Amino acid sequence: MRILNLNNDKDIGASGWFVDIEGYKLLMDAGSHPKRIGHDSLPQYSLIKGEDLDAVAISHCHHDHVGSLPLALDYFPRAHVLMTELSYFLIERILHNSVNVMKSQRDELGITDLPLYTHDELDDIAPRFQGFKYNREIEWAAFHKTRKGFLSPTLEFYDAGHALGSSGIMVRGNKQTVFYTGDVCFKDQTILRGARFEDVKADVLILETTRGGREVPEGQTREREIERLIDSIQRVFKRKGCVLIPVFALGRTQEMLAVLALMMRSGRLKRQPVFIGGLGRVFTEIYDLESHRTHRNHSNLILNENLDLTVLDKKQTEKIKLTKNRLFVLTAGMLTEKTAAHDIALRMLQEERHAIFFVGYTDPDTPGGRLRAAKHGETFHFSQSGGDATVNCEIDSFDLTAHADRDDLLDFVGHVAPSTVVLGHGSDDSRAWMAEQIKRRYPKIKIMEPGPGESIEV
Ligand SMILES: [Zn+2]
Ligand SMILES: [Zn+2]
Repeated sequence: MRILNLNNDKDIGASGWFVDIEGYKLLMDAGSHPKRIGHDSLPQYSLIKGEDLDAVAISHCHHDHVGSLPLALDYFPRAHVLMTELSYFLIERILHNSVNVMKSQRDELGITDLPLYTHDELDDIAPRFQGFKYNREIEWAAFHKTRKGFLSPTLEFYDAGHALGSSGIMVRGNKQTVFYTGDVCFKDQTILRGARFEDVKADVLILETTRGGREVPEGQTREREIERLIDSIQRVFKRKGCVLIPVFALGRTQEMLAVLALMMRSGRLKRQPVFIGGLGRVFTEIYDLESHRTHRNHSNLILNENLDLTVLDKKQTEKIKLTKNRLFVLTAGMLTEKTAAHDIALRMLQEERHAIFFVGYTDPDTPGGRLRAAKHGETFHFSQSGGDATVNCEIDSFDLTAHADRDDLLDFVGHVAPSTVVLGHGSDDSRAWMAEQIKRRYPKIKIMEPGPGESIEV
């Protein structure tokens, strides 16, 4: 089996794993780099442009895993796109939104080759998308079915517990198997229950390592972090401030809304409107609609009915007064420019009584990452459009991650007992920690770390 890492960065970057198993060819994920724009954001598709690809399998609908799918399909006109049925309900929304983001980047930054794909092109490729239930074995090598005496390989999606529709992908050949974790969360979140990877055994394991560099402090639990968050919100409200929780539209938004809904229901938090973004609203509706199909907690908790959700558009974001206790759960999670969260954060920063609470990962090289690193009272460079800013408001972080803790990943490696582990989706530090620990605990397992554009033979 040959595995090629198409990511264009040594960091999380744009996910894309090309697998050639017994002559059958599959691409797992077609992401785009969250910090790069245009062609720089793409996986290195040119390295596989001559390959006769049978299928593209998508682990989940976050941008770093699916954002460049239409461009991948340009190279492989015969390939079908396989995903979970829950991802199938989300994917077109995600990609159409990307077109809009790229159009505004073109207009504001003058990058003429944007958008990289159009709404019409998306409509053209949509018939190639296919959704499947978890834990069904699927034949994906449709074009080479009739090779003599050889069964074509199969594929199966396992629930990864990370965001709606997220999956780990098992590929079974005649002689070898490979399992790709995608982004995985083993512990229950507030809505989504943890990954169901119990039956996974494979020869080769492609492992995400997002939190490999992060030690969970002694005694910290998700429940305690939620308690601390609610206490903090109440404190801000007492001093007549507003709270901004920057989130990603898919996953983080709904997890935070569930936390707030449960707290309002129990009376811990006063009932009041929650301001969210348009895309956050769309995905919240899909979470509600698909609650019965989802492996989740509180399956009767319909967010849209339990909360007074108000969508904040661009104009309202500029106008809304920050004089009352207001609660914002807005995209983007890293306070990327041209988003509602970025603009509101910039306004809130100036006043002591407000607070910005981070609940997920922020890259150090984004406005959110820089804000988190800045000290109270310090003036720092926030963003190109926002310029410099001084941190006067309260800033805090709460660990409500949707990624597995590093010790859980390590246990999982032992459980799968592969002959080879391939490390990906993490920083140098994260992969280094994981490699070191695997070597120590499981000395027989071979560890491989193909860099950007590098391929390995297993
Ligand atoms: Zn993800
Ligand atoms: Zn990811």
